[in-house]
Amino acid sequence: MRALRLPAWKTEPELVEVDEPTPGPGQVVVRIGAAGACHSDLHLMHDFEAGGLPWNPPFTLGHENAGWVHRLGSGVTGLEVGQPVAVYGPWGCGACARCRVGVDNYCENPAAAPVPGGGGGLGLDGGMAEYELVPDARHVLPLPEGLDPVDAAPLTDAGLTPYHAIRRSWPKLPPASTAVVIGVGGLGHVGVQILKATTAARVIAVDTREEALRLAEDCGADVTMRSGESTAEEIRRVTGGRGADVVLDFVGADATLRLGVAAARTVGDLTIVGLGGGTLSVGFFSVPYEVSIQTTYWGSRPELLEVLDLGARGLVRPKITTFSLDDAMSAYRMMRDGTLEGRAVIVP
Ligand SMILES: [Zn+2]
Ligand SMILES: [Zn+2]
Repeated sequence: MRALRLPAWKTEPELVEVDEPTPGPGQVVVRIGAAGACHSDLHLMHDFEAGGLPWNPPFTLGHENAGWVHRLGSGVTGLEVGQPVAVYGPWGCGACARCRVGVDNYCENPAAAPVPGGGGGLGLDGGMAEYELVPDARHVLPLPEGLDPVDAAPLTDAGLTPYHAIRRSWPKLPPASTAVVIGVGGLGHVGVQILKATTAARVIAVDTREEALRLAEDCGADVTMRSGESTAEEIRRVTGGRGADVVLDFVGADATLRLGVAAARTVGDLTIVGLGGGTLSVGFFSVPYEVSIQTTYWGSRPELLEVLDLGARGLVRPKITTFSLDDAMSAYRMMRDGTLEGRAVIVP
């Protein structure tokens, strides 16, 4: 079969011929219907080197996958060949207190996981191929009626990651509250949709690009702002001086983190989702009282079931541009240049 593989750190991926995987006991091979292309893949190609992560290339890219059950390993029950499924991406040990409640993204025994702190497309072979081997059937979730693999694939990361970040802040998002989304890219535009579908908060979207702000409007943002010097002041002005109850930073650069703090309301949340690598100085005089600042990583398996439900009911629909496996690299180039709107999905 064909697979888009990262051969080494700081190299471009290659489309190569590899053997089709065979499922061992308890495992599942999924025929890939769609694999989302994520900004973090660009970090894998360009930014990391040996020792930066607990795993190394070579591996097949693609950590945002959906398709159909192709082959079942011995002992797997509850799934049928041909059934449409999504793949839950973070693969933990399966036995620790976190994994036992489906929070594999925060597995506490990563040394016992298939690969420490990773999954398919993140140290192990992912879904940018015709087939993907999923090492445990618990990660294979049947798609609800009304959701096909192309729409489902981006929900497993571009949907699940913002969903988790928003869900944890639900108590701070009653009517009359304000949520700010910084960065309306592959995750941020879905974040706007999730806020509108699951809360009554007013949603302000901030980006440097005019097209991104139009996408935010299409996704239901109440207010859009081109980011600049006075963005924090503008956010305070439209919130009657209070600031934002919840700020979701899908960029994570120095400038956006500073904006987040400057725009946050007392007792608010500032959640850093983007891998921009920025830092923030936190101290008594530099942050509004009782603002909680956290990073989040991906989401849990039960949360993915909820996201798939939102997708099947049409409440959350990522804006998708599809590419063939041959064209996958042009998708990544567009993402790098900031010319791709919404999410790129590779259909092998
Ligand atoms: Zn990702
Ligand atoms: Zn675990």
